[in-house]
Amino acid sequence: MDELVSLCKRRGFVFPASDIYGGINGFWDYGPLGVALKNNIRDSWWRNTVECPPIGPDGEPVSIVGLDSAIIQNPKVWKASGHVDGFSDPMVDCTETKKRYRQDHLELLVPKSGEGLMYAFPENQPDLIAAKLKQARVDHSLFETVTLPEIPVSSYDRVVAPDSKNAGTLTPPRAFNLMFETYIGAIRHEDHKAYLRPETAQGIFLNYKNVLDTMRVKIPFGIAQIGKSFRNEVAPKNFIFRSREFEQMELEWFCPPDEAQTWYQFWKEQRMLWWLSLGINANNLIFRDHDADELAHYSNACVDIEYRYPFTFPGFGELEGIAHRGNYDLTAHQNHSRTKMEYFDQAAQLAAKEAGLDKEDIARKSRYIPHVIEPAGGLTRALLTILCEAFTPDETRPSKVVMKFKPNLAPITAAIFPLINKDGLPEIARGIYQKLRQKYTLQYDAKQSIGKRYARMDEAGTPYCFTIDGDTPQDHSVTVRDRDTAEQHRIAIDRVDEFLAEKMLS
Ligand code: ATP
Repeated sequence: MDELVSLCKRRGFVFPASDIYGGINGFWDYGPLGVALKNNIRDSWWRNTVECPPIGPDGEPVSIVGLDSAIIQNPKVWKASGHVDGFSDPMVDCTETKKRYRQDHLELLVPKSGEGLMYAFPENQPDLIAAKLKQARVDHSLFETVTLPEIPVSSYDRVVAPDSKNAGTLTPPRAFNLMFETYIGAIRHEDHKAYLRPETAQGIFLNYKNVLDTMRVKIPFGIAQIGKSFRNEVAPKNFIFRSREFEQMELEWFCPPDEAQTWYQFWKEQRMLWWLSLGINANNLIFRDHDADELAHYSNACVDIEYRYPFTFPGFGELEGIAHRGNYDLTAHQNHSRTKMEYFDQAAQLAAKEAGLDKEDIARKSRYIPHVIEPAGGLTRALLTILCEAFTPDETRPSKVVMKFKPNLAPITAAIFPLINKDGLPEIARGIYQKLRQKYTLQYDAKQSIGKRYARMDEAGTPYCFTIDGDTPQDHSVTVRDRDTAEQHRIAIDRVDEFLAEKMLS
């Protein structure tokens, strides 16, 4: 991870926000290569979800429209959605080190005998605890691991917090709301308090009626949105994995209650296929179904798609959640706003009549508040995933590392190099560059040795470099170097366009 973070800074993928002022915890800036990569991931999601959505069970593309809703909404929205009262994490403080932890992110070594001290450590950090036990001269095998919420608060006096010397320094858990607050207008008064959205999903529920009334959509259909979300995370960590300002890609799929289970399975499969289409190795992705006690009270089912991050290795961490939310959100907004969210399903009514159902069943099938399946992924977390997946150490190369992005995601598709900056070579190289720059993201570079230029492109993850050399003026061909194999071969200048077009599709 340290090497990846340093490459990201060195090569302009991700910078700490407010870097020259010492940074600001939980915030990041995306540099020239980072924003290019992020936009390519975003565009792939939008294309795959809104412009060219998947084929549904009936053989036709499913119907999805896009949306871009405001980040700040009427604060009543967050009351209705449950975020004002419920969107909080239980936190414990260490009175000795002044550090604050999410209660469910602390693991605990508990003596199997039930007697003696317990040792807390941040999740997924077994090395830390091994060192601590060694220091305390305690045998690891005499302990078992649980999470902090599993023990009663009355036993906290026997817990040694991470980095603390003494037991009993952890406070009982307190709820900490994750929403960022702001004030609207000139007066800083409670009545003018508003929130930065902690998820993009609610903006979609707010516009469900608008979309239904203005677009010619029928249930089942979806509304998709990509945008910034803000959470005052107590412990932002693992680079951009958990930050306080991040981007989400969310789809709310509205369907008849009877079909929700079928669509839940459909979206589960489709979302995994999309992640695989980004070139992520299937061995690094898993589904993790939520246990019944993990589900929100309104949710019927939830599954996470998890990725094997370097900091969770050999385990996995969340990348996207796919939730069956029932009609919880639309019902909550109907109750709070007094706007009817019911849908009249003419086709279902006809079908029910034809099937000879009784009056009550016909009414139930044709008038309902739709159920919702929600695939909710992180865009900035997707960027991290693609960076981790692409990062390939290679001691044989001058750069020592190659970023193996798929050609259609790479921030720079190809580089055009004149071997030397004279003898007419720059003119030919610029000609190729000028001709193709409208179609591909190209970089023209005539400085430094060719080896140094290749090394820069390996770190930037540029899949192809075209070099114009002394033979080019005679044979009208160039050398193309493949980033992944470092192999080179010659192709005709006229074929460069076709070559790149083919690679972008693969
Ligand atoms: P967690 O339990 O880890 O706090 P969550 O389950 O609340 O996360 P969701 O509300 O389901 O997360 O958000 C959907 C997606 O948004 C997540 O799968 C993740 O990719 C992304 N996401 C959520 N919180 C953050 C964050 N603080 N930083 C970056 N991405 C995030």
